[in-house]
Amino acid sequence: MTTTTTAITNIPSLVTNDPALGEGPLGLVEDAALVLEGETVAWVGPAAKAPQADETYDAEGRAAIPGFVDSHSHLLFAGDRTKEFNARMEGRPYEAGGIRTTVAATRAATDAELEANVTHYLREALLQGTTTFETKSGYGLTTEDESRALRIAARHTDEVTFLGAHIVSPDLADDPAAYVALVTGEMLDACAPHARWVDVFCEKGAFDGDQARAILTAGKAKGLHPRVHANQLSYGPGVQLAVELDAASADHCTHLTDADVDALANSGTVATLLPGAEFSTRAEWPDARRLLDAGATVALSTDCNPGSSFTSSVPFCIALAVRDMGMTPDEALWAATAGGAAALRRTDVGRLTPGARADLALLDAPSHVHLAYRPGVPLVSGVWRRGTRVR
Ligand SMILES: [Zn+2]
Repeated sequence: MTTTTTAITNIPSLVTNDPALGEGPLGLVEDAALVLEGETVAWVGPAAKAPQADETYDAEGRAAIPGFVDSHSHLLFAGDRTKEFNARMEGRPYEAGGIRTTVAATRAATDAELEANVTHYLREALLQGTTTFETKSGYGLTTEDESRALRIAARHTDEVTFLGAHIVSPDLADDPAAYVALVTGEMLDACAPHARWVDVFCEKGAFDGDQARAILTAGKAKGLHPRVHANQLSYGPGVQLAVELDAASADHCTHLTDADVDALANSGTVATLLPGAEFSTRAEWPDARRLLDAGATVALSTDCNPGSSFTSSVPFCIALAVRDMGMTPDEALWAATAGGAAALRRTDVGRLTPGARADLALLDAPSHVHLAYRPGVPLVSGVWRRGTRVR
């Protein structure tokens, strides 16, 4: 059986994320074409040199970028927190405890309801150009509810994260040590087969550094790789712990000391910034410029969740990062594609190079810069995932 090849032509600006293939860190190719073969990219370069393909698709002057890699979302949930958002916009601060509202709704939901919800939001994200998704448990907080969330998540993505340590379960609010014992024991045993990653919300009101270390270490012993919700609401030990345990990513990184920035810059741990959270909680922005200038690898993701960041739009996060976090449009695009891939320790996505997965988006714009230049405008008008056009 031969695989059909498809040439996508008439692309004014193509981001490859490979400096060997084009200009600058984005490896930008002008007047470009690319050839897809089955689920992978077979060829990328100037249109004038494109090889013959079985089929041709005319991009009609639209820019092409790698599909977004959203390395941080919480889509296994039920319920709605509109009232809490409203109250916050009236001046009430965000606290970790709001998660309890979603825990109650998620426990009460049927499997079919959770499945429908995750399907809905993944589709919503896909149509906006997100072709790789990570998602987490964390709204069940019992062995049964956490493992069911992960089972459902694993039907939709390979990037599944066990976040039993989102907050101390309300059932054991008086005995956090007993909850840590549950998370590192019976709950981990039930969840590990369905997940790739283990995560902890290391924060005042959630888990301290010692508890987080115990949970991540136990997860590692079961074959899960760590990532950490670190330094979101306050300074704390999360980032240093992430680096110590070689976590793939320290997520949020809003409150960093110079030592935290140095530790990230000298590690294989990606700093994943989630500006949707600062937007929706009206909080101080993370300083992407400081991290980039120090040499840290930065990823941008949505943190899509019903409490603190209810957006599935990576383009929106790119616009915020450029406007308010000191990133250039090029840096933000890289962070939302190759950066997200690095935060998941993947090299097959987040780039458009021969052999990479054929995941890409076409923009109703002459270049990727328009994602920040034209905020809020639905520019993504074509999406391919694993070589199949889904939009
Ligand atoms: Zn999160």
